[in-house]
Amino acid sequence: PTISDLEEARRALDAPLFADLAGDCAVSFEFFPPKTEKMEAALWETVRALEPLAPKFVSVTYGAGGSTRERTHATVARIARETSMPAAAHLTCVEASRAEIDQVAQEYWAAGVRHIVALRGDPPTMGQKFVAHPDGYENAAALVAGLQKLHPFEISVAAYPECHPDSEHQAADLDNLRAKIDAGATRAITQFFFTPEAFFRFRDAAAAAGINADLVPGILPVSNVAQVRKFAGLCGASIPAWMDRLFEGLDDHPGARQLVAATVAAEMCRKLYAGGVRDFHFYTLNRAELSYAICHLMGLRPKATPVAAAA
Ligand code: FAD
Repeated sequence: PTISDLEEARRALDAPLFADLAGDCAVSFEFFPPKTEKMEAALWETVRALEPLAPKFVSVTYGAGGSTRERTHATVARIARETSMPAAAHLTCVEASRAEIDQVAQEYWAAGVRHIVALRGDPPTMGQKFVAHPDGYENAAALVAGLQKLHPFEISVAAYPECHPDSEHQAADLDNLRAKIDAGATRAITQFFFTPEAFFRFRDAAAAAGINADLVPGILPVSNVAQVRKFAGLCGASIPAWMDRLFEGLDDHPGARQLVAATVAAEMCRKLYAGGVRDFHFYTLNRAELSYAICHLMGLRPKATPVAAAA
């Protein structure tokens, strides 16, 4: 075995059992803007189910090419207005001028939103190369700098434990991450990944590159491997073969699939916790159960909301 294998074995052995986890971690939840009234109702059920866990923030994604501009704004503004959770809006540079993007950011500030997840975004057609708008922000680092000029937003950015496909190697990817932090971002949320080692290696490399912002693992509890496999390659994430084996034969067993999904993701979170991670970002896909179950296993329990406490 290599030294890093031994290190991982030690981490796994040292890992506390779920029963010992005290819930001393912070979580955040990511949603996407709903397209229909039915989806909106489902999202709000999810929002209400997760709110008692008192997340550090919740965020709402921005569709390719700004296609969800209004819906993202409406969802973030409603969360800010009607819940006790700090709301963050994702914002991308795709197919919009600087003036248009700045306008969207101004509207967020006016609506009381103080946290932006600043991204370059992807071209509307999957798999094509990103080309900046002639008057637009050329990448996420430029967007972060632009937002900083408007207002003192809290800014999170994206990071890639297994390297973004547009970066030739990890050093270039880390240079890009450092540029985003230097421009004013204070937190990097990672693309999803499926082995704790991927995150630990990335965290070590980022530290060696002098990056000292908060690195928050993005956790995607997967219950449909085939679906995730379709887009994982495009976004710089690999899916280990054992994931396919774990879900083999479960197509007609949705309940079992959910239980396996929660077990796999919770086990990874437990190992991340053992490696010192105390912040977790969940890609909820607008469903509460999996994220809630994992948080529960991590020891998180509902906190009294101001309304409930007053009652
Ligand atoms: P950047 O940090 O700008 O960089 C992307 C890549 O391009 C890097 O490899 C970098 O090295 C390279 N690069 C940057 N600038 C240059 C340059 N000047 N010259 C050469 N190479 C350069 N997408 C959405 O559309 N909406 C969302 O809401 C959304 N939310 C996300 C949330 C998280 C937590 C994550 C991890 C991703 C999200 N994405 C979202 C996906 C993201 O938009 C894509 O991964 C996109 O391809 C890169 O965005 P970025 O902000 O990381 O880009």
